[in-house]
Amino acid sequence: MQDYIIRGTAMDGFIRVFAATTKNLVDTARSLHGTSPVATAALGRMLTAGSMMGAMLKNDTDVLTLNIKGDGPLGGVVVTADSSSHVKGYVNNPTVNIPLKSAGKLDVGGAIGTGTLTVIKDLGLKEPVSGQIELISGEVAEDITYYFAVSEQTPSAVILGVLVDRDYTVKQAGGLILQVMPGANEDVITDLENSISTLPAMTTLLDEGKSPEDILETIFSGYDVTIHDKIYPSYYCNCSREKTKIALQSIGKEELTAILEEDKGANLHCHFCNKDYYFDEADIKGLIV
Ligand code: ZN
Repeated sequence: MQDYIIRGTAMDGFIRVFAATTKNLVDTARSLHGTSPVATAALGRMLTAGSMMGAMLKNDTDVLTLNIKGDGPLGGVVVTADSSSHVKGYVNNPTVNIPLKSAGKLDVGGAIGTGTLTVIKDLGLKEPVSGQIELISGEVAEDITYYFAVSEQTPSAVILGVLVDRDYTVKQAGGLILQVMPGANEDVITDLENSISTLPAMTTLLDEGKSPEDILETIFSGYDVTIHDKIYPSYYCNCSREKTKIALQSIGKEELTAILEEDKGANLHCHFCNKDYYFDEADIKGLIV
């Protein structure tokens, strides 16, 4: 199945919904970074959340960054997304392996540890808008739920799942973000909470062949769901030699002169797609003007 995100509303417009299937983009990230299963799950959950949160951005040029810094063996996870749900990301230690939790589940919270989640939105204003929370569990979905409640004052349910196959490829990945709009009736919210609490794991449903539309039907059984549009997220890195050159030039004449004297060149590595850009002596001389 192709990756896609359903954007819609439910319960007379009082609930905003995003439902995503993201197996392909998560598997692209896995193969680019050579991630271990627990690292694939952590990065995949963040990429899935990022793809849906990117779809919440209003302008084409808006960019969202999700940055988890943890004290666990995985270190940090960084994901950025644009309003077309192009996402990219990386983890600090892609090959980390830690014991499974009971029930054979990957221990994403244990790999991340304690720390912070920072959400930065570059909306083309003078300064980016950012919000930071202490991690609740490091399991990502709970942390993003807490971020929405505290930093955006939006009660939300966030469900994220990555199922890693025996050969370490991604078997299923997906997620849901359900947000309560102002004025929603308490009974409606209670019904929704009950429905979510009995919902099987997202990846179980996807693995049974359920589509994001089917999953929304299950959650909102007996209520209306209106689908507004379908978005096709993908793993995409927009780095280029030209952009890297501008970044290198921005470090200033003094630093560039030092690089020239010490190393006769500079290799700049893109953490998101693992491309290397090499600038030789002549290139760097050209940057010192
Ligand atoms: Zn790149």
